[in-house]
Amino acid sequence: MEISTPKKPPPIYIHNILNINSMINELKTLDCGGFRHITVENNKVKLNMDLIDGYRKVIDYLKTHQAEFHTYQIKSDKAFRVVIRGLHHSCNIEFMMSKLKELGYEPIQMLPVRHPITKLPLPLFFLDLKHNPKNPEIYSLSRLYNGIIKAEPPKPRKTIVQCMRCQQFGHTRNFCNQTARCVKCEGLHPTEKCNKPKDTPPICTNCKGNHPANYRGCPEHIRLQRGATRHQTIPYRSQPAPGTSSLDKTSASPPELKKVPAQDAPFSDIHRESSNRPLYSSIAASSVNKQGVPQGSILAPFLYLIYTHDIPTPKSDSLTVAQFADDIAVLSKGDTGEEVTTNLQNFLQEIEKWNKKWRTAMNTNKS
Ligand SMILES: [Zn+2]
Ligand SMILES: [Zn+2]
Ligand SMILES: [Zn+2]
Repeated sequence: MEISTPKKPPPIYIHNILNINSMINELKTLDCGGFRHITVENNKVKLNMDLIDGYRKVIDYLKTHQAEFHTYQIKSDKAFRVVIRGLHHSCNIEFMMSKLKELGYEPIQMLPVRHPITKLPLPLFFLDLKHNPKNPEIYSLSRLYNGIIKAEPPKPRKTIVQCMRCQQFGHTRNFCNQTARCVKCEGLHPTEKCNKPKDTPPICTNCKGNHPANYRGCPEHIRLQRGATRHQTIPYRSQPAPGTSSLDKTSASPPELKKVPAQDAPFSDIHRESSNRPLYSSIAASSVNKQGVPQGSILAPFLYLIYTHDIPTPKSDSLTVAQFADDIAVLSKGDTGEEVTTNLQNFLQEIEKWNKKWRTAMNTNKS
């Protein structure tokens, strides 16, 4: 028999608290159970509720009062996500889900996965299951109807998350009730309502630099990514063994900044899409590096230069390549738009070959 320990609700970060006493009094009127609070920044309070029920009451209350806050998803609300390999992309998803139901699982959805660069469909699906003690058994499932499959836990998220509503890091839009900020102009409006003229440079709301707030090279992003990596440990990054009971590896919403599994910046962008690559976070906790360079070490920049010394260089005058750390910009010129695109495309194919050879990948978010 499974004995499940009650899960603690995630913290709630409430902003603009001008009077802590009135906050406490309001909470007491809600009959929401015990709670603890700590002031983390000047007017920002981190609130931990003892009970999930109390947590939900407080969230409802804050929403109806349009309070500025952010939080994270309750662990038990997250689906149990599994990666299914080996099924053809054209397979009948509904039918496969019905077969899973017959086996005793409770599938919520099955999502086909595409290659991040080529966008071609892959023999790969994300399967979300409702919580059920049976779920870990799926890792030993090798057949689904007539198909030979392999079920694996998803890989941990490598980069720090950013909220598409308020542009801050460490939480996601679905759990944010803060004032919307534009990704392009730092204005207090949702990005889709932005009317910044095209020729006006963007302003980042996080660092005030002239780039959109979701630019990975933003100094604020790099700083937080480094911080997240410093708190990272090898066991957290490694894949859980199939059949283990560590259920929630799907974390789209990290519980705390320090627990975000993340790659080191700034030398990792080009390798960021590569997988299963442990870090040498300390001498005591070293492990095998199958591709890329070990990050977070003093040698990383030097190793990175060696690793990328044979990166393709353009053979024609119409292309210029500019490199800074692991960022590569390619400038193409020509008499027609078509010529510009063709030159660029040919060179990207060279880069893609190089990526394949050295088992790295371009970061498509920045391309
Ligand atoms: Zn937010
Ligand atoms: Zn705007
Ligand atoms: Zn910035």
